[in-house]
Amino acid sequence: MSVDYTKLAVQGVRQLQPYVPGKPIEEVARELGLAPENIVKLASNENPLGPSSKVLEAIAKAQSELTRYPDSNGYSLKNALCAHLNVAFDQITLGNGSNDVLDLLARAFVVPGTEVVFSQYAFIVYPIVTQAVGGKAVVVPALEWGHDLDAMAKAVTERTAMVFLANPNNPTGTCFSRSQLVKFLEQLPEHVIVVLDEAYFEYVDEAEYPNGLLLQNDFPNLVVCRTFSKAYGLAGLRVGYAVASPEITDMLNRVRQPFNVSSMALAAAEAALHDQPYLTKACQINHEGMVQITSAFNTLSVNYIPSKGNFVTADFGEKAADINQQLLQQGVIVRPVANYGMARHLRISIGLPEENERFIEALKQIL
Ligand SMILES: *Cc1c(COP(=O)(O)O)cnc(C)c1O
Repeated sequence: MSVDYTKLAVQGVRQLQPYVPGKPIEEVARELGLAPENIVKLASNENPLGPSSKVLEAIAKAQSELTRYPDSNGYSLKNALCAHLNVAFDQITLGNGSNDVLDLLARAFVVPGTEVVFSQYAFIVYPIVTQAVGGKAVVVPALEWGHDLDAMAKAVTERTAMVFLANPNNPTGTCFSRSQLVKFLEQLPEHVIVVLDEAYFEYVDEAEYPNGLLLQNDFPNLVVCRTFSKAYGLAGLRVGYAVASPEITDMLNRVRQPFNVSSMALAAAEAALHDQPYLTKACQINHEGMVQITSAFNTLSVNYIPSKGNFVTADFGEKAADINQQLLQQGVIVRPVANYGMARHLRISIGLPEENERFIEALKQIL
């Protein structure tokens, strides 16, 4: 070949490290010759409950419209979100998962050469979307695995276009409090867009945990992102959204692909939003599973990072990669986080009680 096509790519794109997803069940089954039904996947922070019956009904209903393009404006879902969140229609941007919205934010607001501030160990999509548009990542060292908001505020300069915050953060599960967030926002110049990623919002039940939406009146530069992928159980359908000031929302909707959310996904998300019993059950199962797994860690003297999400990340020392392999051999998929600079750790998503037990039993044998 006379042309090296990689050399033709945009510079930021050439330097990207591809996202490493959790291993799909079918892949592990193929590679290790295991039956798929004997494999437990605790690797991608998915909802272990399976889809809600309300969602399945909504999808069945939407089937007859499959030949039509979806509603580009997402009118019905956005209206439902407005009522549910008490925000205005022109504040909402729908995305193909909230990752899509994170990408839209970078594309609309990160001018090449400007800086984007986020924490060490923060969600890996932030460096990806930053680099893809030619932004300069400013990574602030973590404090006890969480965001060091004081240090992050100090890292902001007149060159900063955007800050990404994850609360709780993935893969560490750490949270910051309302007072810490407000203090941080008060220190920032108004030109800096602060993206508050609340992908695990629904799971957190703490008095001091901030709801970003309630701070947007005081801080119009604050963008809140949420998703239907986790507690609402729709990871496979891809729906997320941003809530922001109308000006910011207008810009996001200009770069957004007109049909970025499918008709099935729109219908499913609206049904999910109204299925409060499912959400309550998801949070309950998660809470119990978290106790089940962390108790086992305590018994086995495994150190873990206390987590507010639907996953927990534990320190397995030098043997982490080896333990991951042995878990796979036993049909238990968890998530290595070496690509986050956490080679000693593995992240375990909270599953159903029997799935958690499979993990615990496998781990006991290995250790
Ligand atoms: C899972 C996750 C998301 C959501 O991704 P979707 O694209 O909505 O599936 C966003 N942010 C963080 C930190 C996550 O862990």
